[in-house]
Amino acid sequence: MRRGKSKKMMDNLFARRMAGVQRSFIREILKITEDPDIISFAGGLPNPKLFPVEQISLAAAKVLGDDGENALQYSTTEGYLSLREFVAERYSRKRGVSIHPDEVLLISGSQQGIDLIGKALLDPGDRVVIERPGYLGAIQAFHLFEPEFRSVSLGEEGIDPEQLEQEMRLGTVKIVHTVPNFQNPSGITYSDSRRAEVAGILESTRTMVVEDDPYGELRFMGKNLPSLKKYLNRQVIMLGSFSKIVTPGLRLGWLCAPREIMERIIVAKQAADLHTNTFSQRVVYQYLLDNAVDAHIAAIRKAYKQQRDTMVALLETHAPPEVRFTRPEGGMFLWVTLPDEISAQNLFEEAVREKVAFVPGNAFFVDGGGEHCLRLNFSNTDEEKIETGILRLVEIMKELMAR
Ligand code: PMP
Repeated sequence: MRRGKSKKMMDNLFARRMAGVQRSFIREILKITEDPDIISFAGGLPNPKLFPVEQISLAAAKVLGDDGENALQYSTTEGYLSLREFVAERYSRKRGVSIHPDEVLLISGSQQGIDLIGKALLDPGDRVVIERPGYLGAIQAFHLFEPEFRSVSLGEEGIDPEQLEQEMRLGTVKIVHTVPNFQNPSGITYSDSRRAEVAGILESTRTMVVEDDPYGELRFMGKNLPSLKKYLNRQVIMLGSFSKIVTPGLRLGWLCAPREIMERIIVAKQAADLHTNTFSQRVVYQYLLDNAVDAHIAAIRKAYKQQRDTMVALLETHAPPEVRFTRPEGGMFLWVTLPDEISAQNLFEEAVREKVAFVPGNAFFVDGGGEHCLRLNFSNTDEEKIETGILRLVEIMKELMAR
């Protein structure tokens, strides 16, 4: 009785938009994986051994010593101009994409960009296309603006063009959210021709494309492929991040958008937090000035490639042939599809008992599905543990298949 009453009070308390927003399942799993005996392929964490701790410490001391008062002061919503120039210049040098520093907004992690785009662009009921499986953080952030999610399957070469076309025919799509490079959760990269095809479907529509690309610089094989912005220019909002190439804890990312959209996004940013942490911006910029970041990124790529190769080789050698998995060319994840008779949830429960964790696939679907899939992270576990963990996992798969 009492419980019923308090539930009713709570129902009246929260905004309608909170209904159905799940606490991130990954956060829940991360609690399980705090147990140091667990080998966790669950989180999406970079390898902390590669954080430039010493260099960041020196950069912080220098910023405080040279210009401490400004570095600790409020600053502009757009962010530190020198760092915005760095981002714009790097796009043109590394990706062949031309961006003016005024089209760059420094944000509190690229995750904030998704929230700001939702605030600036979405009314309840607006249709948002999301990849299937999709990035959980985008599903969660957009969900708060009460859109109608339309999910479009991801195949080996990227989002399914026929399904996308079908969605475009069914009604106006406000946003298409894409992670074209080493997608989270699948590790899939859109092929060159698929990028062109997707662009062909979306050009001459009013749909905005969010090119969410935190992993783009972590390519360990194959060649860099063009940004969707090369095809769709002003229809694209790009999100990038220092999380995977420097460190996630400073919460620093960027959003690039054409000026007319940027104006509105800046208003949303002002309302949210006035501006991104001044000190983080200054420290990261100082770090970039004083260190060869390309060499640092090369070291990350090398380490992740080894970790990825170890995981792929173990699965190739030991997993039952019915088990399929992606072979990512970069990033931090691979995606496993189990035979129909095993559910990823059962595998998860048994695996946690054996002290191995991963994320069951259904978390990444907005409309059901993924029961036989799982995401494995390879960046946050050293090779020895990858071996122990994958061998355990494969044994459990075999036991479940035999049952
Ligand atoms: N987009 C994608 C696809 C991601 O995987 C992540 C990190 N998990 C983010 C955005 C957010 O990253 P950050 O806020 O650290 O830049």
